[in-house]
Amino acid sequence: MSLVVVGSVAIDSIDTIHGSHHNVLGGSATHFALAAGFFTQPKLVGVVGDDFPDDFMETLKGRDIDLAGLSVEKGQTFRWHGRYHADMNNRDTLDVQLGLFGDFKPVLPASYRKAECLFLANGSPATQSAVLDQMEKPKLVFLDTMDLWINTALNDLKAVLARVDGVVLNDSEAQALTGLHNTVAAARKIHDLGPRFVVVKKGEHGALAVAGDDVFVLPAFPTENVVDPTGAGDTFAGGMLGSLCRDGLDSLDFNKLRRAVSYGVVMGSFNVEGVAHTRLMSLTRSAIDQRLRAFANHIEIPF
Ligand code: AMP
Repeated sequence: MSLVVVGSVAIDSIDTIHGSHHNVLGGSATHFALAAGFFTQPKLVGVVGDDFPDDFMETLKGRDIDLAGLSVEKGQTFRWHGRYHADMNNRDTLDVQLGLFGDFKPVLPASYRKAECLFLANGSPATQSAVLDQMEKPKLVFLDTMDLWINTALNDLKAVLARVDGVVLNDSEAQALTGLHNTVAAARKIHDLGPRFVVVKKGEHGALAVAGDDVFVLPAFPTENVVDPTGAGDTFAGGMLGSLCRDGLDSLDFNKLRRAVSYGVVMGSFNVEGVAHTRLMSLTRSAIDQRLRAFANHIEIPF
């Protein structure tokens, strides 16, 4: 099944206690598409400027990603600079330069509009709605959001939440959106705003999902080798949506969702093992499935 992702394609600078990495490939849509590409051929919608390095473009072209929706324009690519705290779970944004992404009004190529699956990566809720308007009959739409939109565009965010099937967000965003500190209660309240699937990412503490009346939790895949968490959330979403779209949506049951979230956890765990997107470059489908199997064994509870 085809999967469209709309979001940022960026040039990032990242500081961690282990080192600094300047001008590396980033962006929510980039990380998502690179992960989803292990499951299905994602169709990417985004914008970059004439400062976007050739080797970044070659990296994208070298993967199984449809780039018909990536426009290259005169101007600056979106740039983000973040610094991680020593715990590698929290970070501060030091600088954001929106460049062309600030005024980006995505126009979906005709071949994208028929897609069954859509991921609206982090972006303004008004833009997310405008993208949704262009889709013909998507069967599954998920969105991601962040504190910025919760604080500055809450009404627009609630309007788009009412139109999507699912949302992925982290625990602090779930708290900010609902005012509730308990993650389960927050997820249920978000479910009441419209999305039938609510997936709350909890960094190294895993993920919690609400699907209708069902709730489940998954730990993170245990890894000690955390080099750079940038893009872990988008990689998680890419693995999850990639798995759902590959499996087909006709009988989207609880087990399919559980497996998809598990793939998300596994893809996120790979992402953190290298700077920016680099760990995904050496990854294979069999390595992904091997880790999923290890994860499944790991969480089996004798009872
Ligand atoms: P994650 O670590 O999953 O939250 O994703 C981080 C990626 O999102 C980085 O590569 C950034 O380029 C990108 N990013 C950061 N802030 C924004 C924003 N306001 N809008 C869109 N993308 C962003």
